[in-house]
Amino acid sequence: MLCGGHSGIEVLCAPCASDLPRLPERCPRCALPSPGGATCGACLADPPYFDATRALWLYEFPCDRLVQALKYRGALALAPFFAHSLAEQSLPAVALVVPMPLHPARLAQRGFNQAAEIARSLCRRTGSAFAARGARRLRDTAAQADLPYEERTRNVQGAFACDLDLSGKAVALVDDVMTTGATLNELAKVLKGAGAARVENWVIARSVLR
Ligand SMILES: [Zn+2]
Ligand SMILES: [Zn+2]
Repeated sequence: MLCGGHSGIEVLCAPCASDLPRLPERCPRCALPSPGGATCGACLADPPYFDATRALWLYEFPCDRLVQALKYRGALALAPFFAHSLAEQSLPAVALVVPMPLHPARLAQRGFNQAAEIARSLCRRTGSAFAARGARRLRDTAAQADLPYEERTRNVQGAFACDLDLSGKAVALVDDVMTTGATLNELAKVLKGAGAARVENWVIARSVLR
């Protein structure tokens, strides 16, 4: 899918797969670069609602092209590839895997939710419980990418609801890209409000641009 070379049944050939941009040493909570992999100052000063973030790659070329190919060009074969790559990360056991929900209008337009495709494929592989409707999107918020960073937290406030009783449960949130983390944090807040004891972000790509 990247170099046009032979890759058998895989979407990427082995050299392209091993060339995807690695994340530097990072904060276990937010996955931003942090020397020695220590919890970063921002997470210490103002802890987010999520407890940990596992991210596969930097959101840079060519990982960004793959993420966009799934989301905007419907390259659905990438979902099992991403899921397989996540599953190789020795993920902790969780009670539920919840995909970042799309607003129904956005879902109707796109035809699929890329986060749900990844999460479903991951659960098929790991045997974890896939909560397709673990969370709902109440508002079709302005695309976060179109907003200045400081407005992103406000943009997503009140955007989600959760109808499940998550009392005492560990939950994983699956999304394709984590940028400021504002959207994941808002959803983690709602899941904690529903009783979740622990919320982890499992994302494909982490943008570290500030
Ligand atoms: Zn290749
Ligand atoms: Zn951090």
